[in-house]
Amino acid sequence: VGEKMNEAKELLEEGKYYFPNSFKYLILGGGVAAGYAAREFVKQGVKAGEVGIISEESVAPYERPALSKGYLLPKNAARLPQFHVCVGSGGERLDRSWYEKNGIELILNTKIVKAALESKTLTSEDGTNFKFGTLIIAIGSKGLKLRDFGVKGDEAKNVLCLRDIKDADQIVEAMKAKKNGKAVVVGGGYNGLEVGAALRLNNLSVTMVYPDPWCLPRLFTKEIAEFYERYYTSKGIRIIKETSVINLESDSNKEVKKVKLKNGRELEADIVIVGIGARPATGLFQGQLELNKGGIKTDGLFKTSMNDVYAIGDIACFPMKMYNEMRRVEHVDHARKSAMKAVEGIMGKGKGKVVEEYDYLPYFYSRVFDLSWQFYGDNVGETTVMFGDRNPAAKKPKFGCYWIKDGKVMGIFLEGGSAEENKAIKELAWVQPKVGDVKELKDKGVSFAFEL
Ligand code: FAD
Ligand code: NDP
Repeated sequence: VGEKMNEAKELLEEGKYYFPNSFKYLILGGGVAAGYAAREFVKQGVKAGEVGIISEESVAPYERPALSKGYLLPKNAARLPQFHVCVGSGGERLDRSWYEKNGIELILNTKIVKAALESKTLTSEDGTNFKFGTLIIAIGSKGLKLRDFGVKGDEAKNVLCLRDIKDADQIVEAMKAKKNGKAVVVGGGYNGLEVGAALRLNNLSVTMVYPDPWCLPRLFTKEIAEFYERYYTSKGIRIIKETSVINLESDSNKEVKKVKLKNGRELEADIVIVGIGARPATGLFQGQLELNKGGIKTDGLFKTSMNDVYAIGDIACFPMKMYNEMRRVEHVDHARKSAMKAVEGIMGKGKGKVVEEYDYLPYFYSRVFDLSWQFYGDNVGETTVMFGDRNPAAKKPKFGCYWIKDGKVMGIFLEGGSAEENKAIKELAWVQPKVGDVKELKDKGVSFAFEL
C-alpha cells in the first residue's frame, strides 16, 4: 500500500492524475458556485479527467434560489432537471450528461469529513481519500438551528428548514400532509419571507415570528419593510415581531403542536419552518486556512492563505474593491461570478495570462407573490430617500429607495421595476453619482437613474 501511495504521490507531483480519486482540479461542494466553476473549466479548456466535483447532494449542481420560489408553487412547480445551473443566468443547462460528456467526474452523495490541506487529501464519511492538485472550496453555508439559540424541541419531524433539495421535498410533503393546516415561520429574513409567501400560496394559514422590529433588517429600511409587512398581512399572513421562540412542544407522535414565544404567547402549529440565518461552513478548515468575518479569507482571485487552495461563493471573504473592504456575500450572483473568476485565475496562471482581480457590485433580489425587487450597491449612508407608490393595495406597486453617503448614491432598491429600469439602477450603483438636491431625487424617483 505504501508503495502504491508513493507512486500516486509522485504522479501527482508530476502533474499526472491517472489514479481514481485524484484530480488536478478538485471542487469541494456541488452547489451554485461548483456548477459555474465546472462550466468555466470547460470553457478554459481543461482535459477530460482533470476536474472532479465532490458533493454531499444526490443531484448535479442546480440554481438554489429556485427552491424557495418555483419549487414550492402549488401549480406548475419547478422540478429538476429544469433548473440545473446555469439556467438562472440564461446559460446552458448542465445536467448529469453534460459532466459525463466533458469528462468531469461528479462524485455525489459524498460528504467530506476531513480536509488535510498540507497533504492535499480530503476524506469522506466512508473513509475514501481524494487527492487534489488544486482545491476549490465551494461548500457554502449551513443554516442555523433553533437549538443553537438554546431552544428545545427542534428535532421534531415537522420542524423543517430550507437549504437543499431534500429539505424542499420535505416541505412539499409536509404541505400535502398538513393540507390547509397551520404553519409557523420562524425568522423574517430572506428565507422566512420567501417560504412564508409560498406556504400561503399553498393555502396554509401562516404566522411569521421574528425578533427584529421589521423584516429583513439586513437590507430593508423601516419604510421598505412596512410595505412588505402590510402586503403580507393583506394576503392573510399573521406577523408577530420583536419576540422569539423559546420552546417547541411535541405530542406523542414527535410532532410539534405548540410554539411558545418569549412574549408569553403560544401558537398552534402543524408545520414549523426555521429560517434564522446561515453561517459559512468553515469547520473543516479551522487552523489550516486564514479566516475573516466568519469566512475563508481570499485574495482578489479567490486564493486562500494556502497555495493551490481557493474558496468561492458564500464561504469566501474577499476584497470588495468598490468599497475597499473585505466582505462575504451570501447571494447567488456572487456565487456564480466568484466561481468564474477563480477558475479564470487558476487556468490563466497555468498559461501565464494576467487576470484582473474581482471587482464586484453587490446584487440581491427576491420574488414573492406578484412582487419582485432588485437591489444594487451598498445599503449604507446618512440618508435614505424613498420614492414611488408604497400602497400595498395598488395594482402594481412600484417604489424604491436610494441610500446616500457623503452626498453620493451608494445603493438603490427598486420594487416592480422593468428590465430597463433595473439595468439603469445597476449602472447607477456602479457610478455612485453625486446628489445635489435630495427633494429633487425623491421627485424624480427611478427616472434619476436614466440621467447618467
Ligand atoms: P451552495 O449553493 O450552498 O452549495 C454548497 C454545496 O456544498 C452544496 O451542494 C452542499 O451539499 C455541499 N457541501 C457542503 N458541505 C459539504 C461537505 N462537507 N462535503 C461535500 N459537500 C458539501 N440568493 C440570491 O441571490 N437570490 C435568491 O433568490 C436566493 N434564494 C435562495 C433560496 C434558498 C432556499 C437558499 C438556501 C439560498 C438562496 N440564495 C439566493 C442564496 C444562494 O443560493 C447562495 O448564496 C448560493 O447558493 C451560494 O453558492 P455556494 O456554491 O457557495 O453554496
Ligand atoms: P437571513 O440572515 O436573511 O435572516 C435570518 C433572520 O432570522 C433574521 O431576520 C434574524 O434576525 C432572524 N433570527 C435570528 N435568530 C433568530 C431566532 N432565534 N429566532 C427567530 N428569528 C431569528 O437568513 P435566512 O435564514 O433567511 O437565509 C439563509 C441564507 O439563504 C442566507 O444566506 C440568505 O442570503 C440566503 N437566501 C437568500 C435569498 C435571496 O437572496 N433572495 C432567499 C433565501 C435565502 P436578526 O437580524 O436579528 O439576526
